[in-house]
Amino acid sequence: MKFVEPQVYLIGETKIDLAQLKEMLAAIGGSTASEWFSKTQKASKSEGELLTEVAGRLCYKSFGVGLNPNVTKIRQSSEEYIQNTLSKGDGSIFEHASCTFAFVNVSRVFTHELVRHRVGVAISQESLRYVRPSQLGFWLPPELGDKKAKIKTIIENIEESYRDLEGEFDWENMNFDVKKRITSALRRIAPDGMATSIIWTANHRTIRHVITMRTAEAAEVEIRYVFDKVARVMKEKFPLIYADFEYSELADNTRSWRPKFVKV
Ligand SMILES: Cc1cc2nc3c(=O)[nH]c(=O)nc-3n(C[C@H](O)[C@H](O)[C@H](O)COP(=O)(O)OP(=O)(O)OC[C@H]3O[C@@H](n4cnc5c(N)ncnc54)[C@H](O)[C@@H]3O)c2cc1C
Repeated sequence: MKFVEPQVYLIGETKIDLAQLKEMLAAIGGSTASEWFSKTQKASKSEGELLTEVAGRLCYKSFGVGLNPNVTKIRQSSEEYIQNTLSKGDGSIFEHASCTFAFVNVSRVFTHELVRHRVGVAISQESLRYVRPSQLGFWLPPELGDKKAKIKTIIENIEESYRDLEGEFDWENMNFDVKKRITSALRRIAPDGMATSIIWTANHRTIRHVITMRTAEAAEVEIRYVFDKVARVMKEKFPLIYADFEYSELADNTRSWRPKFVKV
């Protein structure tokens, strides 16, 4: 066995086809929309936020005064625009841009809780029917910190029993289907805390919701630990969409993140 740390990698995010977007803006809003875009693009920190704002402004044609006769003034800056949308709870525009995370060295405790969030997500999880573990990884929650040696012995004992049982099967002479069935049967012996991996894609509306739910003080320690990392990355990369999130430090050095606008 080896002790591991849950890792968070932001491995993908929504990008814009700038040429197509500029063409579209010129088609629907002429020079007014084009000028709005070149000014806004220069100030923008992320394509996800830029796309979100374009989608929102398209609804009222609010790229500039004059495009929609009903609109007599527009919010000039992206900060102001996104903040107003969050405050009104017009959350659907935050569904246009997504992020893809790899959560590595997380337990089945974590993945089981993560997959309860159904809306706006895509999930691919390491198959423990197909993947026969070669070594058990285990993250030690802070509550068990002073029991490290004892935990190590427990996991090593499980691992040893697993290897004993595994050794009773003739893996070399099995077809893949039988291997899969036995691997799946054997995984019942492995602990819930064994390290595994999951790829999780979610749109920003969902990421805001899951950060709020899963960094609450009452949330389970591992998902809180992981979503604190997610929140820190989101704050840095998408400062406008997560501008209203503030944190308080918890005793275990993780942060509990709360947005000003909860229902978005
Ligand atoms: C601290 C904590 C403790 C928990 N304890 C338990 C527990 O003891 N037992 C347990 O089973 N679960 C528990 N959960 C899981 C919890 O009940 C939810 O299943 C999980 O947090 C998913 O959140 P969600 O329902 O907001 O779903 P999401 O899929 O994230 O949905 C997002 C939002 O979309 C809307 N929505 C989603 N689906 C529907 C629908 N079918 N109909 C209408 N609106 C919908 C809702 O507004 C929802 O909030 C716990 C969660 C937390 C954070």
